[in-house]
Amino acid sequence: MFDKILIANRGEIALRVIRACREMGIQSVAVHSTADADAMHVRMADESVCIGPPSGTHSYLSIPAIISACEITGAQAIHPGYGFLSENANFVQIVEDHGLTFIGPTAEHIRVMGDKITAKDTMKDLGVPCVPGSDGGVPDLETAKKIGEDIGYPVIIKATAGGGGRGMKVAKTAADMEQAFMTARAEGKAAFGNDEVYIEKYLTTPRHIEIQVFGDGKGNAVHLGERDCSLQRRHQKVFEEAPGPCITPEERARIGKTCAEAVAKINYIGAGTIEFLYEKGEFYFIEMNTRLQVEHPVTESIFGVDLVREQIRVAEGLPMSFSQDDLEINGHSIEVRINAEKLPNFSPCPGRITQYHAPGGLGVRMDSALYDGYSIPPYYDSLIGKLIVHGRDRPEALARLSRALGELIVDGVDTTVPLFHALLEEKDIHTGEYNIHWLEHWLETNLGNA
Ligand code: ADP
Repeated sequence: MFDKILIANRGEIALRVIRACREMGIQSVAVHSTADADAMHVRMADESVCIGPPSGTHSYLSIPAIISACEITGAQAIHPGYGFLSENANFVQIVEDHGLTFIGPTAEHIRVMGDKITAKDTMKDLGVPCVPGSDGGVPDLETAKKIGEDIGYPVIIKATAGGGGRGMKVAKTAADMEQAFMTARAEGKAAFGNDEVYIEKYLTTPRHIEIQVFGDGKGNAVHLGERDCSLQRRHQKVFEEAPGPCITPEERARIGKTCAEAVAKINYIGAGTIEFLYEKGEFYFIEMNTRLQVEHPVTESIFGVDLVREQIRVAEGLPMSFSQDDLEINGHSIEVRINAEKLPNFSPCPGRITQYHAPGGLGVRMDSALYDGYSIPPYYDSLIGKLIVHGRDRPEALARLSRALGELIVDGVDTTVPLFHALLEEKDIHTGEYNIHWLEHWLETNLGNA
């Protein structure tokens, strides 16, 4: 059993892990950059270590600094949160080489799923349905054009090393191919140091549906249903819910079983998310995230489980504390991502919080590292909080979201809260009729956002 866990992250996710540790009687170690010396995760952890200057590259991404922090504090395991080093296979290898435990999947699983082409091939072999497209990497423009003709336009060109919505370009017709192909390659090279790309059929009206899976690393795995994350801006999720408003219990059982069996077969350990596009009753795999997702709380709310606790348990070699039959959906949950950003362009808006008041009451969870007087540093992601609500059904969850947003006070910086107030006025949000393009259209029409 672990006595002490180091959290290689910051912000709300670091607090999330510290909370799980505390409930399990495990000591927590926070690491922080000089810019985060006053951050909430530093205050809340049992111990803290400064690991470098503000820039993420020299602090939260500094493997030597993090390993040293473990050695100094005697932490036996590292929880990576999401982002930063959470999907870095090299880091996992180094952690293990130092006799420490990485709370997450193996380096090999991360490597396989981190390369989108290998991931797709692996999933195909495991019986998971995929988006039609090129068979592996596309070496040159000529081949790309040929594939475009074969599968039919529109197509999407994707960097195999891509992530976070970067390195993806759509070619609506053959005339767009050259530009899209070259740009996707250049973005892949610039952002991820890898210019390999592949091509997929571009689905025009899909929803983004992802399945939460969990494995014990010993051939046992379960699924925890789906999340619908179709409301996106620039391929980034802003509003997530579970269960998906358009998924039937039969569809959930079918795709969930396929996913759980797939990860069981590869002895997957810990939390993972298998992402799909869903159109006309069909699921198409797009990628797998080998970590805890930002939006995991909606799944926790409807199943009443603590996914971080489970991650820690299986990393210790213990079995999962639930089986598939124990997992029953209760009600509906919605999460909205509150970013320090100025509308209509979503430009980052760091600064000092002059007043913060979190909403409360039945079915309301606020995961945030904010406090009165806190200064949001300009160096990191603009996510400053996640408001998660739970209701007996979707209408109740929506009403609760509206009520909770009304109670929330974040003064001193601009936030995305007004966006959610406005979205809650929309009929489509209440009927659940939206696809991955809905929000972009809405922003264009209502905010003149390009
Ligand atoms: P990333 O790793 O950058 O998040 P994904 O492959 O998960 O990239 O895709 C992110 C988003 O891009 C999806 O949620 C969807 O909105 C859009 N997308 C990806 N592939 C397709 C496709 N074949 N057709 C239509 N949209 C797509």
